[in-house]
Amino acid sequence: MSEQSLVTHRGGCHCGRVRFEVLAPASAQVSECNCSMCSKAGYLHLIVRAEHFKLLSGKEALTTYTFNTGTARHLFCSVCGIKSFYVPRSHPDGFSVNARCLDAGTLREMTVTQTNGREWERQYPKGRGEYQG
Ligand SMILES: [Zn+2]
Repeated sequence: MSEQSLVTHRGGCHCGRVRFEVLAPASAQVSECNCSMCSKAGYLHLIVRAEHFKLLSGKEALTTYTFNTGTARHLFCSVCGIKSFYVPRSHPDGFSVNARCLDAGTLREMTVTQTNGREWERQYPKGRGEYQG
């Protein structure tokens, strides 16, 4: 993995209650997952370490949805329904930010890779994934 300097990106949900700040490269690697949840939502994962993510507002508006193993904590804004970030099963100590929910201006480019979340155990034989930011 190339050592790129990290920049601060900001983003949030549709109604603006949930706002966050995330440190990640300006040219980010994001992943598109084919699992039952992500394929319906069109979610683009930008996965970062916990210390690179800061929730600025909206904690009280967040609702949690879990299914299957219950490891992933899907966090939705209870007002507008948008999942702008969550705690993924592949990175339970970090966060996945929805690259589609980032404000314009700081992301120079995105490279989209495919994640085979439908066959989760095959995609993550070690039980967890690598961090991108
Ligand atoms: Zn909202």
